[in-house]
Order: sequence, then structure tokens, then C-alpha cells
Amino acid sequence: MENIMIIGAGFMGAGIAQVCAQADCRVTLVDNNEPALKTARREIARSLEKLFSKGILAEHPPTVLERIRCCQSLEGAARMDWIVEAVIEEQTVKRELFKELDRLTPAAVPLASNTSSIPITRLAEGLRFPERVLGLHFFGPVPLMPLVEVVGAEKTATAVLERAAAFVKILGKTAVRVNKDLPGFVMNRIFAAAFRECLELVSAGVASVRDIDTGMRLGYGWKIGPFEIADNAGIDTFLRVSRTMQALGESHLAADHRFLASMVGEGKLGRKAGRGFYCYNSEGKKVEPDNPD
Ligand code: NAD
Repeated sequence: MENIMIIGAGFMGAGIAQVCAQADCRVTLVDNNEPALKTARREIARSLEKLFSKGILAEHPPTVLERIRCCQSLEGAARMDWIVEAVIEEQTVKRELFKELDRLTPAAVPLASNTSSIPITRLAEGLRFPERVLGLHFFGPVPLMPLVEVVGAEKTATAVLERAAAFVKILGKTAVRVNKDLPGFVMNRIFAAAFRECLELVSAGVASVRDIDTGMRLGYGWKIGPFEIADNAGIDTFLRVSRTMQALGESHLAADHRFLASMVGEGKLGRKAGRGFYCYNSEGKKVEPDNPD
């Protein structure tokens, strides 16, 4: 049984913790915000029950949940087999955390970031052991999405990347390798280019949110539309990603900040807030009336 520490118990961290526990790993889920840990535990329990009731999860949900310990400090980090960072998308916050982890843990412990947009090389800069730092980019909702991008930074050791591919397999996911550490890696660069255009088309009144989502589902076979993806991911996270892309000189991949910032200002954070591009009920199901124009 592997010992995994996940730092950040939001949408992604909770999901990563859940899939690790489902794969029989012993998980320490860390967040500096206690309510976030409580919400994460409740969401994980709810997701496990749902998977169990559908026959996707064979094990009894409380048994899986017992493998997750929630905690507000990095205590025990030195004894971990893997550490996965999934805190907010802010370079300064992540860099501070990586410095702390580099100080607290021996060189053999791989340090992975789940960042959506920040090059891993920046997070590894100035650390004692940059060769153990890599990107493990999960997709949300993690219990349902099978893909993980494995990203090597400038100094990441090949052995660490190989170990990462094996770890991803243990979690029942499929790894794709990203050979160059660009902002947004591969999948988010492609999605960001599409989403930027989607938002421009809506702003210019060319098509509605709902029609663009319908079009991408029915015309291109996407399982869910780009605006539905944004609502699932969180508009606040999309805003941070977009700002990071802009700051890193990738403005062609940055969606309109003002549009996203005004949504965040109005509390339209996506599914987690009950409204974003669409409206949702307390169980997270899309409801009418929505106003996706
Ligand atoms: P979120 O806002 O839901 O959760 C972030 C959590 O980090 C919060 O609970 C917050 O309290 C915690 N946190 C902040 N600073 C911390 C610190 N110093 N120590 C411990 N905890 C801290 O965000 P999210 O959507 O889960 O995204 C997390 C990371 O995953 C981001 O880097 C994001 O870009 C990336 N990501 C997000 C998605 C997505 O669909 N949302 C997909 C792939 C990757």
C-alpha cells in the first residue's frame, strides 16, 4: 500500500484523494482551510456512494473513506511515497509550497504538481532536488476522467517519469507524456484556444452558450460542451489559468479576463456555486431556468 499526500482539498485534490483511496493507497489530504477539508470529505463520501450504487465501485464506501486522513499541516510528508500538489492556481503559492516540501522531504519522494498552466520548471526552480519534480495533470471530475498528463520539467529524472507512469496505472488511469514543459502542457493549450474563441463568439452575439455547447456535442462528438466543462472546472480557476497564460506571454490562449472576472464578481463560479454559465440545484444537476445567452 502506497502512502500518498495530496495538498489542496478542492475540486481536484478531493478527486485525486478519492481515486488514490480507491486504488488501496493510504491518503493524507491536506488543506490550510478546515471547511474545505470537511466539504472534501462529504463530496468524496457522496461520490463513492454514487459509484457503489452504480456497481462501478465494488468495495464498501466507508472502507475506502477510512483510508483518507484529513489534516491541516504537512506533518508526515517525509514518509510519503508520492506528494501531489493541487492548491489554487497561483504561482507564488505553489512555489512557496514546493520550497517547503523540498526542505521537509528526502530526495527520493517525488513531488508532483496538478497545475493547469504553470510550467513545472518554474515550480522546481531553486530547489535542492529538482530532478524529483514533475507534473501529474489530472482532469476533473477526477473519479470519472481517465486521463493524466505526465509532464517532465527541464531537470526531471527519467526514472521519476517512469515511476509516475506506473503510479497512474495503479490509479486505473491512462497516462500521456508531455515532452516539452509549455504553459498549459498539451490538452489545456488545445482546450484554451477553443474556449477563448467560444467566449469571443458569445460576446459578439454570434451564438449562445447553449447553442455552442450543443454544437460541440452534436457536431464534434464532445461528451460535454466547452461551457459545461468551464462550469465543472470552476470559473475562478479558469480566470486564474487565463491570467497565467497571459502573464506567460500566451495571450492567444487566454480567454477574456473581464468576462470571467465579472462572472466571478457576481458569484457565478460554476457548478460548485450553483450558477455559472448555467444554473444547478443542490445536487449539482443542471436546472431551468438557466440563462445561458
Ligand atoms: P479549488 O479552488 O477547488 O481548490 C484549491 C484548494 O487549495 C482550496 O481548498 C484551498 O483552501 C487550498 N489551498 C490554497 N492554498 C493552500 C496552501 N498553501 N496549502 C494547502 N491548501 C491550500 O481548485 P481546484 O479546481 O481543485 O484546482 C486545484 C489545482 O488543480 C489548480 O492548480 C488548478 O489549476 C488545477 N486543475 C484544476 C482543474 C479543474 O478542472 N478545476 C483541472 C486540472 C487541474
